[in-house]
Formats: sequence, C-alpha cells, structure tokens
Amino acid sequence: MLSLTPTDESSSMEEYLRAQIRTIPDWPHPGIQFRDITTLFENPQAWKKTVDVFVRRYSKMTFDRIGALDARGFLIGSTLSYVLEKPLVLFRKKGKLPGQTLCVAYDLEYGQAELEVHADSVRPGDKVLVVDDLIATGGTLLAADQLIRQAGASTLEAAAIINLPDLKGADRLNAAGVATFALCSFAGE
Ligand code: AMP
Repeated sequence: MLSLTPTDESSSMEEYLRAQIRTIPDWPHPGIQFRDITTLFENPQAWKKTVDVFVRRYSKMTFDRIGALDARGFLIGSTLSYVLEKPLVLFRKKGKLPGQTLCVAYDLEYGQAELEVHADSVRPGDKVLVVDDLIATGGTLLAADQLIRQAGASTLEAAAIINLPDLKGADRLNAAGVATFALCSFAGE
C-alpha cells in the first residue's frame, strides 16, 4: 500500500485531511463507521489540497484514462480528468449506462452488487487510473480492475482519499497485482 511518504509535511497533511472527514457511527448499518467526505467537499481549501496531491502524483505518470467509480469517485475522477486532460470513464452500478456494457458481480462491505462500464470506453492496451473515495474491502475497485482486464487493458493504480486498512482491501488489491494509493487512513470498519 502506497500512501503519502512519511515526512512531517505529509503526516500533517494526513492529519489535516482526517480532520475534514466526518465520521457517522452505525450508518448505514450498526457497527459501520461511515467516513463522510461531504464535509471535505464543503471546504474548498481542503478539497483543493486533496486534488493537488493527486495531481502532483499522477501528472508524473503515463496513462490513458481515468476510471471513476459510482458515485463519489465520479467527483474525484472528473476533477482529475479536467486538470490532467485525460479521458474520463464511468464505472456505474448495473442498469445506469445506456450503451453496450461489460458487467461483473462483486461483494461489498455490506451486500452484493454488479458494476458496469461501456464496452467501448476502455481500449485494449490502455492503462487506467481508477479512483474512488474509499477503499474498504477493495471489492469495488477489484471489480473495476476485472472490467479493465476484460477490455484487454490494465490498471495503473487504484487511488482513494481514504483507506480502511483493517478491512484489508488494499492488501487484496495488491495481491491481485493492483497498486494502491490513499491520502489518509482510519482504523476499524
Ligand atoms: P469496498 O468495495 O468494500 O472497498 O467499498 C468501497 C465503497 O463503499 C466505496 O465506494 C465507499 O464509498 C463505500 N464504503 C464502504 N465502507 C465505507 C465506510 N466505512 N465509510 C464510507 N464509505 C464506505
């Protein structure tokens, strides 16, 4: 799991970001600590700092597309797509995309779901940066990686604002050959 390098600047950035994220206990189910990034979005300075870290990292890398995960990943992905001038590909919950799709079923931290992408949005040989707000079990980002592989492409990295290391999603992604990057982490579920 890659995260910010452990300099004073980055650990204070991690602390700063953690302080912008609201935790709602027992939502949507008892025992879940919901890490709510709407408070981060409501603080333009904090949102700008968040975007700037991703931009600094990914402006140095070579890749073809940004894959954004439904729904909070769309907000991160569209901002990065605008700044980095990369095509944006939406990975959506089943039934939302109008064209011909590739589809994969996957397990969530709470429940099951299917993820889709337009069949012609990712091309063979593409390198795709996938983004979401949070890595929990890693199931959603793994599903996106499966769709990318189905299209004959590969994942550059799975990036998120938050990692929940106790749920081992980043470990699962790394074991599947997908590098991960997160700006901050929280203990527990
Ligand atoms: P997973 O597929 O288990 O890694 O779950 C990741 C997705 O579920 C992300 O899109 C998150 O938005 C959402 N999610 C899972 N757990 C949490 C949590 N504790 N707080 C906020 N969002 C969560």
